[in-house]
Amino acid sequence: LSFKKLGVMEELVCACSNLGWTKPSKIQAEALPHAFQGRDLIGVAQTGSGKTGAFAIPIIQALMDKPQAFFACVLSPTRELAIQIADQFTALGAGIGLKCAVLVVGIPEMGQVIALGKRPHVIVATPGRLAYHISETKEFSLRSLKCLVLDEADRLLNEDFEESLKKILDAIPRERTTYLFSATMTNKVSIFVLFSCVSSS
Ligand code: AMP
Repeated sequence: LSFKKLGVMEELVCACSNLGWTKPSKIQAEALPHAFQGRDLIGVAQTGSGKTGAFAIPIIQALMDKPQAFFACVLSPTRELAIQIADQFTALGAGIGLKCAVLVVGIPEMGQVIALGKRPHVIVATPGRLAYHISETKEFSLRSLKCLVLDEADRLLNEDFEESLKKILDAIPRERTTYLFSATMTNKVSIFVLFSCVSSS
């Protein structure tokens, strides 16, 4: 099985091979055909499985077809994971000039506001930081967002993030694609899937 056979465009196949990704990982092989049909994704996968590629490839491929600012938002429970995800987006999207903004605590706030001002295609954020920018940085809007990714959803859907997630979900369209990846299917994840994902598919 190859990326090409799964429907990945030539330019993106090259970007994958530049990263040493010669063939799709299991989660990528399973997820990509669904994602290319415009469907929501629910993936049970651990870090190390290649799950970042499983959501980054369809997002970048959609942007190659039709570039749009604030197209996708990836939520991550930790700063470190957010930075790793953004690095993969930047590497895979280098050939198409992909702009990716990382919104996490510990990176100077002014830099984040400037990154948002550049109208990135993709935002990778921890929920608290994104909720903060939604309230405080008025120069950007997520009203035209097309794709929301919840990475490590079992860790995102806990009480610590509840208020921030509510604010984010209020700021983005209900009509969108949702990609949800989780190490485990907890009750909270299943409930989120029922009420937030399935409604649009
Ligand atoms: P992830 O599970 O997304 O955090 O990815 C874990 C590691 O696997 C990262 O270092 C990726 O660069 C790498 N990786 C992702 N997809 C592939 C692939 N298809 N072939 C080889 N390595 C990959």
